[in-house]
Amino acid sequence: MKKIFLLIAFHFSLFTGVAMAQTQFNELQYSQEKSVFTLNAPSKAKAVRVRVYDRADSQQPSQTLQLKRVGKDRWQGTVTGDLKGKFYTFDIGQGECPGTFAKAVGVNGKRAAVVNLSETDPEGWNQDVRPAIKTPSDLVVYEMHHRDFSIHPSSKSRYKGKFLALTEPHNLQYLKTLGINAVQILPSYDYATVDESKPELPQYNWGYDPLNYNVPEGSYSTDAATPEVRIREFKQMVQALHKAGIRVILDVVYNHTMNIANSNFQLTYPDYYYRRTPQPPIGGAKVRKSTDVNSNQSPLKGGRGSYSDASGCGNETASEKPLMRQFMLESVRYWVEEYHIDGFRFDLMGIHDQETMRLIRAEMDKIDPTITIYGEGWAAGAPAIPNEQCAMKAYTHQLPGIGAFADDMRDAIRGPFSDDHQPAFLNALKGNEESIKFGLVGGIAHPDVDMTKVNYSKEPWTAQPYQHVSYVSCHDDMSLVDRLRTSIPGIQDDELARLDMLAQTCVLTSQGVPFLWAGEEVMRDKKGVHNSYNSPDSINQINWSNLRKYPHVFSYYSGLIALRKAHPAFRMGDAEMVRHNLHFLPTEDCLIAYTLNGTAAGDSWKQIVVILNANRQAKQVVIPQGEWTAVVRDGVVNTQGLGIVSGGKALVAPQSALILHK
Ligand code: CA
Repeated sequence: MKKIFLLIAFHFSLFTGVAMAQTQFNELQYSQEKSVFTLNAPSKAKAVRVRVYDRADSQQPSQTLQLKRVGKDRWQGTVTGDLKGKFYTFDIGQGECPGTFAKAVGVNGKRAAVVNLSETDPEGWNQDVRPAIKTPSDLVVYEMHHRDFSIHPSSKSRYKGKFLALTEPHNLQYLKTLGINAVQILPSYDYATVDESKPELPQYNWGYDPLNYNVPEGSYSTDAATPEVRIREFKQMVQALHKAGIRVILDVVYNHTMNIANSNFQLTYPDYYYRRTPQPPIGGAKVRKSTDVNSNQSPLKGGRGSYSDASGCGNETASEKPLMRQFMLESVRYWVEEYHIDGFRFDLMGIHDQETMRLIRAEMDKIDPTITIYGEGWAAGAPAIPNEQCAMKAYTHQLPGIGAFADDMRDAIRGPFSDDHQPAFLNALKGNEESIKFGLVGGIAHPDVDMTKVNYSKEPWTAQPYQHVSYVSCHDDMSLVDRLRTSIPGIQDDELARLDMLAQTCVLTSQGVPFLWAGEEVMRDKKGVHNSYNSPDSINQINWSNLRKYPHVFSYYSGLIALRKAHPAFRMGDAEMVRHNLHFLPTEDCLIAYTLNGTAAGDSWKQIVVILNANRQAKQVVIPQGEWTAVVRDGVVNTQGLGIVSGGKALVAPQSALILHK
């Protein structure tokens, strides 16, 4: 492996671990005296030009600069004078674009902007501190979309649907009361589908259609047309969350771009950044055609196959190629250094090669080993590199410090992604217990878990429990409430709430990293829509008046989160510790019971018993002798105690959890 970076061994700020590291994507080096433009473009390009515009919408450039070749596939040119406030594009003869690594753009990301980044720092930015954790299992992640969170009329937010909503004291207080300590924000880089020039229109998209990877999305700012504003407001958001003790995890989508034909990658270095399907046999197989109208792709000439589409979005990037790999490394480093980001959720991580993910982990370790990295350990189609090179879930154990979403546990609790009607543990369908046990231990090898009975994985896939992201719902797919309404027709509110709380008890007592979808704590629904990526606000928004309807559900979530945070036995953070100190008790169907050795985990509770009962009847479970104090019982959490249990057995109410300690 080629050594890419020069590591200079001093730190000049909390968030800048690698000072002056060599970069390949410094497309604009700005100073008041001059601007140096550099582009990775093929050596064989006939001409590489930079056009400078006075305004984002100027018809004609004020200057056109011809770049010179300064190395293999590298072009450079300098404009003297102060270009601050101007806009620019690169053009290698394929059409204009803002480059691959613009750090500021005008409205809709068509042209890059020249800004002085240091002028975008909010006051006190130098004192901004990353909230501390010991292990990723200490996190309670809250996945949210900016618009979902604050757009509903019941939201008291002044900045509805904006980054700044997460600077408003009442919103921060809400998150603190709930107790989460990390937000995972849905794509917040500049994406394509929302027209930023029409903020008055209620437009919605999740944002999995990347345009400019290193610039905040304009529609979440109060002024998309002024390039500095989105940058400053994003930083204000991070700063406010950090002050509230909440980490910020960015959802990054390097695995595909909005399309190929007009992507910044393709316009600067045609056919480099994307994978192709293998060469078709001579005289043979038909070239696969995409059905994605956005992809604008056509089979390549020369028999090299068509563009591969493991993302299901018309293309897939090639992380194994040096420039794409380097792009990803520099991009995550940039978000950490410039925006103080604390972690990354890699969309369709299974498309990326493992080596790139390892290098990203190593790069983050140089800055702060507690920066979290996890992702979706799968792809939407077969990637065009061998599966065993991909960062698929099954290989998580050989990717130290990188986690993956656990569909085994998720589907055992609530049913599979592919069928919203199919029952599971919550529907009192037996046979799901072992998959949930596997999730409770965090996906490690554990003597009490019979892998032959686990739904998807036949071998443990983590080496450490914090590599296991434990969840029952996320932005994809139905909300938990919709899923329950679909799989239990006619379900009433009381049962809905009971099962919702039981489901999240599995998540919040798991030794993995608990992950909640925003709004589940107030019984959010999406009116039954499964894939709401571009559904209107009426589907995606969180109705906060539900807080008055389901105050006991919110209290249960916040109580359970507080309990987890106060008791390290629920987040031991080490596989050996979990193997020795978490043991399952024998139970009948649709029941799971286990003990935790609190003393060994440094917990103030010596012993803990957790029982999860999905049956529609109360059930008795044999537990170790002694006098136990109930702290979670029948939908209520109270660490001061909810009664004493003794005599070697415990009665668990229907569709609920019981947690005891002594
Ligand atoms: Ca955009």
